[in-house]
Amino acid sequence: MKTCYNCKGNIVKKRINVEINGIIVQDVEAEICERCGEEYFNTSVATFIQNVARFVEKERVFG
Ligand SMILES: [Zn+2]
Repeated sequence: MKTCYNCKGNIVKKRINVEINGIIVQDVEAEICERCGEEYFNTSVATFIQNVARFVEKERVFG
């Protein structure tokens, strides 16, 4: 079992909705601290979220 870097609470796997610049990405796999609510994402998920954020930025500017 992993523990939180902030508070040493238990970390549980959950699927959550992540908001990026006003866009909701649903059903994102994350690990959440049960105590403080800190969200941890694995590398591929974090990269995906960054890509979405970048795409949204572009759409805002050029769309
Ligand atoms: Zn915590």
